[in-house]
Amino acid sequence: MNVVNGKIVFNEGSVKRDVNRVLVTGGCGFIGSHLTDRLLREGNDVIVVDSCFSGHKDNISQHFGNPRFEFIRHDIIEPILVEVDQIYHLASPASPVFYQDNGIKTIKTNMLGTLNMLGLAKRTGAVMLMASTSEIYGDPTVHPQTEEYWGNVNPIGIRSCYDEGKRIAETLCFEYFRQNQTNIRVARIFNTYGPRMLENDGRVISNFVVQALRKKPLTVYGDGSQSRSFCYVDDTVDGLIRLMNSDCPGPINIGNPTEYSILQLAQTIQKMIDPSSEVTFKPLPTDDPQKRKPDISKARKLLNWEPTITLEDGLKKTIADFQARIR
Ligand code: NAD
Ligand code: UDP
Ligand code: UDP
Repeated sequence: MNVVNGKIVFNEGSVKRDVNRVLVTGGCGFIGSHLTDRLLREGNDVIVVDSCFSGHKDNISQHFGNPRFEFIRHDIIEPILVEVDQIYHLASPASPVFYQDNGIKTIKTNMLGTLNMLGLAKRTGAVMLMASTSEIYGDPTVHPQTEEYWGNVNPIGIRSCYDEGKRIAETLCFEYFRQNQTNIRVARIFNTYGPRMLENDGRVISNFVVQALRKKPLTVYGDGSQSRSFCYVDDTVDGLIRLMNSDCPGPINIGNPTEYSILQLAQTIQKMIDPSSEVTFKPLPTDDPQKRKPDISKARKLLNWEPTITLEDGLKKTIADFQARIR
């Protein structure tokens, strides 16, 4: 890659290109498909690699026929050879319902899948962005969570396949960085929501919205005092793109610092969709983190990034999307 007259020029053998070739693993999924839309809008060549385990081809079918776009159905635990300049590595189930469905597969995806993407980055010289997660902080004893906090994770519980899978993925990234000077970016993504979430995804916003639209009681687990901080998907995607194009290896928190209790969230969605809907209380799942809120000082300073979309505005778009899709 060279800069000529202020423009980045990529070298492909002896052929000079001015188009960035980007690989998005997990590009059929919720965040990956929004990222793919934006990368294509901005003139990149995009290759999506996805096994369609928890994502749907429908999310990217609008790009079929676009010569700048390719889709490869492939399980990332197997090696793959493609020539690219940037890798956004998002392939991994993200919802507890999906990642606990086959915990061993979740570990393989995060361990072997990340190893393969780092091997690819090492061979091609591509920049590799790892979609890590706030779950690496576990049930945090530090609040809000800064990147310096090492976390409080149960290594053998029902969430461990995901939490520890992402922790080993981060460890791999930093070993490749130290040993091979692989160009890495580690994003710790906090709870993200928006259009295209699956109705059976199991995460809290999709559950509450679908329940309220179907006139079913909203299922609050525990007493609803546990908290989360919800980031609209366009903000998350913007943070990931800024991180990729920075020179910061991370780790860096990408999330919205406005914190809500789960009961507050239920009441907000209830008010927006159907004030007469009911709230019902169910047992709290094992190892459910009690609070979560990102400290985003680092992202503000190094990426000049912060979320811009309020929960209410983001929920309006999410509700409209579900309204159009479900009955
Ligand atoms: P998602 O389940 O909608 O998307 C993940 C995609 O990865 C799916 O399309 C799935 O089919 C694909 N995939 C899973 N295993 C694969 C494998 N072995 N090989 C190839 N493809 C595979 O989830 P999402 O919410 O879009 O999350 C995307 C990424 O962001 C994940 O890595 C997740 O851990 C991370 N993340 C998400 C959130 C969030 O709130 N959504 C928060 C923190 C981190
Ligand atoms: N790999 C891949 N695509 C590539 C280069 C490597 O999938 O373009 C895989 C490779 O098969 C290996 C992993 O990435 O499983 C790590 O590769 P690396 O070269 O770092 O290690 P090695 O192959 O020497 O074990
Ligand atoms: N939750 C809930 N009702 C639901 C789904 C989830 O009360 O129908 C709670 C869950 O126990 C957790 C919070 O909402 O405390 C966020 O759950 P989610 O699965 O969305 O994300 P994560 O726990 O991975 O942050």
